[in-house]
Amino acid sequence: MALTLPLAAAETGHPGYKDTPIIPGTQWHVHDSDRPEPRVVAPAKEIGKPPADAIVLFDGTDLSKWHSGKDDAKWKIEDGAVVCVPKSGDIATREEFGDIQLHIEFATPVPPAGHSQERGNSGIHLMGQFEWQVLDSFENPTYADGGAAALYGQYPPLVNASRPPGEWQTYDIIFTAPRFKDGEMIAPAYVTGFHNGLLVHNHDALHGPTNHRSIGKYNKATKGPIRLQDHGNTTKYRNIWVRPLKAEDAQ
Ligand code: MG
Repeated sequence: MALTLPLAAAETGHPGYKDTPIIPGTQWHVHDSDRPEPRVVAPAKEIGKPPADAIVLFDGTDLSKWHSGKDDAKWKIEDGAVVCVPKSGDIATREEFGDIQLHIEFATPVPPAGHSQERGNSGIHLMGQFEWQVLDSFENPTYADGGAAALYGQYPPLVNASRPPGEWQTYDIIFTAPRFKDGEMIAPAYVTGFHNGLLVHNHDALHGPTNHRSIGKYNKATKGPIRLQDHGNTTKYRNIWVRPLKAEDAQ
């Protein structure tokens, strides 16, 4: 708690100090009066809805930001949700993303049908390569690294926070794209995220692209589309928005 008038406030009108230690790895003093304040972004009135700087990928009415290969997105819109049409194929964003914050809501089919990987299966492929699993994992055993919110084939979620089929659920995902320098990877992709508000991944380092029964090898890509998986089930999504996190990618 500052009880005295900061020096710089008297000089510049902006609160802070210039007579304090430098913060390691930065050019800034502790409480530096010249350090730029964070930009202002208006949050949504309702938690979970897109903030002012988000790219809204699906608002319940419009699939124009998505495609099915050469065609427009073949999934259907029903009651404000986009529903997978089995055997129509995956849908992907037209835009490509690197580091992102992603909010997405999903519901698996009722009544539940099938077992293990056959029940409510879909998936969110980050950069088109790294699958964050979508599955009905409510009282539905499957292999640990394949349940809802698993990073498929690599990391089980820290907890199973699944709601019953038919109920809307949230994923909030922070994804950091891999880094390359002179053709060599210097940092893998990292994922942190929440399922229905519970932490399920805490800075997990992906070993490579996710696959069924294997682990892929990193390519040199640093951006890619967000791709939603058609796994033959009528899983549905709503309220999808994304915030690019690198300054040069931000809106
Ligand atoms: Mg899947």
